[in-house]
Amino acid sequence: MLRVLKFGGTSVGTLDRIQNVAEIIKKFRNQGDDIIAVVSAMSGETNKLIEYAESYTKTPKSDELDMLLSSGERVTSALLSIALNSQGYKATSMSGRQAGIVTDSAHTKARIESIDTSGMKDAIADGNIIIVAGFQGVSQDTGRVSTLGRGGSDLTAVAIAGAIEADLCEIYTDVDGIYTTDPRIEPKAKKLNAISYDEMLELASLGAKVLQNRSVEMAKKLNVNLVSRSSFTPDVEGTLITKEEEIMEKPIVSGIALDRSQVRVGMYGVTDRPGIASAIFTALADANINVDMIVQTVGVDGKTDLDFTIPTTDWEICKTVMEKFKGETENIDYNDKICKVSIVGVGMKSHTGVASKAFTALGSENINIRIISTSEIKISMIIDEKYAELAVRALHDAYELDK
Ligand code: ASP
Ligand code: MG
Repeated sequence: MLRVLKFGGTSVGTLDRIQNVAEIIKKFRNQGDDIIAVVSAMSGETNKLIEYAESYTKTPKSDELDMLLSSGERVTSALLSIALNSQGYKATSMSGRQAGIVTDSAHTKARIESIDTSGMKDAIADGNIIIVAGFQGVSQDTGRVSTLGRGGSDLTAVAIAGAIEADLCEIYTDVDGIYTTDPRIEPKAKKLNAISYDEMLELASLGAKVLQNRSVEMAKKLNVNLVSRSSFTPDVEGTLITKEEEIMEKPIVSGIALDRSQVRVGMYGVTDRPGIASAIFTALADANINVDMIVQTVGVDGKTDLDFTIPTTDWEICKTVMEKFKGETENIDYNDKICKVSIVGVGMKSHTGVASKAFTALGSENINIRIISTSEIKISMIIDEKYAELAVRALHDAYELDK
């Protein structure tokens, strides 16, 4: 079996940790598996290199920054290979270029255009364990080293697994999988055995420290079976992230996500005319503001109310955009003391009463729901931030996610 294993920054954070990774690789090798390991830089290393560059200028040339940042991953790939060689295992390290990863020339946030897997295939045929420096490739146009954006080693691993048709892509971090909700909020949260790509994307806040979202999207596109697991507890099985059809037991609800980083914008007494929503949301889109939930109330006497949420980071720009609509609005107010709780599960497609159970759970805790939105596999509710944790626990209980 061909395994792609990806080890994040904390998993290779010290020489001892690198040796621990070598032990994981040796175990699979002894079973007869072929292995491509993709490594991150030692934890903190990429930030340190960025600081070094910024000590000269806040705007270093992006291709020079890529040359600098790509070095962190090269260090760990070579060290891991040296460790394995010294212990009698045939291994070879590869830069992104040597692994055949070709990108566009958007330095510091390059996109992978193609992967020529022939070099990796030859090295495997020669009996090598391959250790790839993650997060980097080579720009097709300029031939310069490029990097894939923060957290990009996950993307390297998934892209290689897809291109070379590996059986599995295991992402090792210091967390042993994806949980039904944040265990710091609900200690009864349970690790999921399996979850679909779409659920994982909706539960991004739960996986944020575990999996880069872009890499989950790519895994879905390339049909790569992903596993999230820990290099600190390698005997514990992680969470499989795969196609919905592959999951035998589909729970109605898989998890509860919480997002505290939104602001609710209320526009009251907006002139109720055709094209007003278009004007407002086009202006927000032009300012690159990612609007999440939108509600418009029924118009009365030529006026209507419009509520929507935006990321807190876009608050200032949003205020500027809203200036344009002052003439057509009686009042605009902002509330950042809110949060969004969401229940996510593919099973809700085919079950009734899922939403009412959520509303009842919050109602019986006396939590007022201010905005509701639903999609095929998600129900999101905006509530006051002070009830965030209570709401998560109430919903976790209502769907018996601890069972
Ligand atoms: N070292 C890079 C970063 O910190 C890439 C990665 O670890 O995935 O963003
Ligand atoms: Mg990472």
